[in-house]
Amino acid sequence: MQTLKIGSKGSDVILLQQKLGIKADGIFGAQTEASVKKYQSEHGCTPDGIVGPHTWEALGIQSGAGRVIDEIIIHCSATKEGKEVSSDSIGRSHKARKFSSYVAGGKTRYIGYHYLVHLDGRVEECRPNAKMGCHASGHNARSIGICYIGGLDARDINGTMIKDTRTTEQKGALIKLIKELKRKYPTIKRVIGHRDTSPDLNGNGVIEPFEFIKGCPCFDASVEYKNL
Ligand SMILES: [Zn+2]
Repeated sequence: MQTLKIGSKGSDVILLQQKLGIKADGIFGAQTEASVKKYQSEHGCTPDGIVGPHTWEALGIQSGAGRVIDEIIIHCSATKEGKEVSSDSIGRSHKARKFSSYVAGGKTRYIGYHYLVHLDGRVEECRPNAKMGCHASGHNARSIGICYIGGLDARDINGTMIKDTRTTEQKGALIKLIKELKRKYPTIKRVIGHRDTSPDLNGNGVIEPFEFIKGCPCFDASVEYKNL
């Protein structure tokens, strides 16, 4: 799909207006822009009124050509050391935060990461790489998101005691997965941590106090994975 903004005209604009449930006249004017901004802010997109790949995806429309993947972004689940967390549980919290969804096996799923790395080193594929994730504002279109389970000290009570809690198995699995992805997608240029992307870690357009201190993924991924 082409990128649409104020002044755009044509059949893609009609499709957009139909998706937004507004008058479908094929002209992207001020009213369409206002509806787009509202939809974006409600669905975890940057509310800029421009309909790019992320917004098309949030509207449930594939962007057509395969996406170019040029970075890997590492996350932690911001859960306590030693505690397992399921992809369904993370999906529920992402749904509550209005992250973009995708359909797999006839079921709508909301988890925004492509991979979860569990405590025992098991790698769970969550979102197909071909689908845009929803995990780092401004980076979703061109990245793959990997999240390891953990990131908080076991004694944490309010989500502030950040800690690199990766188990030996998780460390090994992360390196193996990153190497595999770099082989599969030679376009990947860098591996970074979520904290290296933007202060708005959860991409909701608001910088919350938690985000200043969280520092997801709680270690310096850009240094550690620089030479993989
Ligand atoms: Zn993160």
